[in-house]
Amino acid sequence: MSFLDISGVSKSFGGNTVVRGFDLAVRRGEFISFLGPSGCGKTTMLRMVAGFEQPSAGRIVIDGEDVTHRPPNARRIGMVFQAYALFPNMSVGDNVAFGLKVAGRPAAERAKRVDEMLGLIKLAHLKDRYPYQLSGGQQQRVALARALAPSPRVLLLDEPLSALDAKIRVSLRTEIRALQRELGITTIFVTHDQEEALSISDRIVVMSEGRIEQCGTPHEIYNRPRTRFVAGFVGTLSLVEAEAEGAGSTVTVAGQPVTLAEPVAGSGRRPVTLAFRPEALKLDAGEGRINAIRGTVEAAEFLGSVVRLRVATPGGTLLADVFNSPAAPPPAPGETVVLHFAPGDVFALDGEGAA
Ligand code: ATP
Repeated sequence: MSFLDISGVSKSFGGNTVVRGFDLAVRRGEFISFLGPSGCGKTTMLRMVAGFEQPSAGRIVIDGEDVTHRPPNARRIGMVFQAYALFPNMSVGDNVAFGLKVAGRPAAERAKRVDEMLGLIKLAHLKDRYPYQLSGGQQQRVALARALAPSPRVLLLDEPLSALDAKIRVSLRTEIRALQRELGITTIFVTHDQEEALSISDRIVVMSEGRIEQCGTPHEIYNRPRTRFVAGFVGTLSLVEAEAEGAGSTVTVAGQPVTLAEPVAGSGRRPVTLAFRPEALKLDAGEGRINAIRGTVEAAEFLGSVVRLRVATPGGTLLADVFNSPAAPPPAPGETVVLHFAPGDVFALDGEGAA
């Protein structure tokens, strides 16, 4: 049973359609990310769930109640925005109490709830401060407490971390996820940062040009991208041209057989593109490895725990991450190497779309 149901939602501004046929069923307590490049419609979809925009078509149902045409304040939704939207002339405590005051909750209940919320975000000691006296990360935690104080049914987060510096962003996303789990609140998080989406979500909705490209767990999205767009947008990928003939899961790359985990779609002799993640390619043959591609190292980029090799092969250039070892330097440009990979670590992209 889903808790939040978005069905057939589209949105046009004038003649410009920015969300098309969006369908999503979110379970109670689930953490969903909308991920996609700038302008793909993620914020517009989120704003329709919040009630700040009206869908041109489709329905939005929360906990069995059709809210499609209900105003934002009747939806019991909490929202946090990218820019700190705290009231500058109110203390932290008053900011957190705001939604409860609007809802007409008695003063004693408000005070109790504010203390509870500030305890949750570990900022009780800052209750009497004003927003200008807080760091960016603290302001976003207060914004989160303010959104959660009235016990919303759904929490909507619109790029809440994008204005913060890298270190705070990582620690705050962990904190948001822990808090979301503790409260069990159904959450939608908008981001254009794939690492953020992969790290924080139960499921990711990857969007492009107003459509859902793929919806799945971080593991599925990263390891089994269904379209070229998803494969290219999430993580680093290199592509090699191969040829398939007939049914089966073996293809050839420059005349050498390569075995995949699954049969390749289509029939007859046809070109296929193989896609590799840099961490799937190993220099060491290891046990049970049957697939090998020979190539010449063009460049070796030191990334810290790994060294990323650029290897020219007959089918295309491959990126391969090899572990950095203080004892053994990585292969140097000009060296010939053999890259190995397991059948399950390569996937075939065919034609226009499906992998
Ligand atoms: P970003 O990450 O840059 O915020 P996004 O994926 O959230 O991008 P949206 O903000 O949803 O994208 O915008 C999608 C498209 O809809 C854009 O082309 C934008 O210009 C357009 N758009 C959004 N709001 C309006 C509006 N009120 N009137 C007209 N066009 C709009």
